Amino acid sequence: MPVPSTSSAQPLVCHDCDALLAMPELDEGEKAVCPRCVGVLFTRGRNALHRTAACAMASAVLFVVANSFPFLTLRAGFRESQMLLWQSATGLAAEGYPYLAAAVSVLIVGAPALLIGGLLYVVMPLLWERRLPGAIPLCRWVLHARRWNMMEVFLLGVLVSLLKLGSLATLMLGTSFWAFLALIICLTAALASIHPRELWEHIDQAHR
Ligand SMILES: [Zn+2]
Repeated sequence: MPVPSTSSAQPLVCHDCDALLAMPELDEGEKAVCPRCVGVLFTRGRNALHRTAACAMASAVLFVVANSFPFLTLRAGFRESQMLLWQSATGLAAEGYPYLAAAVSVLIVGAPALLIGGLLYVVMPLLWERRLPGAIPLCRWVLHARRWNMMEVFLLGVLVSLLKLGSLATLMLGTSFWAFLALIICLTAALASIHPRELWEHIDQAHR
């Protein structure tokens, strides 16, 4: 059975007008534009791999901080209670919502942890043009799993709850809240800094 080539000469299909084009050689900072509909086909960012690695490392640090410090503190009269990020899931389980608690655990803690871990495992060795065992299926999984990362949806829910609770108690946002906010930005930047096509090119050219 003939094995398809993975060289840069492989064709490229325009997402807007379906034109079949030959992929040009691009330098850093250049972009390929469809000659038919003038849509941007592919952008090769400057230092894309290094920026992805830096953002993934920053995300890992922020993830640890977000899960170690109080997320928010509620104060009503003489009573004060602190909530850690993972306690949003255990709190739901204690209130009789086990399935919702499981979904929150997976989407807010599990998915970002696996996404950051997978990204670091794939990208860090590529800086030395190396590829670790299992990097290919893991990269495919990371590119699929990024849509299951729902941290920003969780943050939106928290902000709506804060508006409602604001009249009942004094709310103080903790270190974890700001780390979580920065984590959303860093993880989005890590995934957006490199085009999947460029990531696959690096994996293809790396030594095992
Ligand atoms: Zn086009």
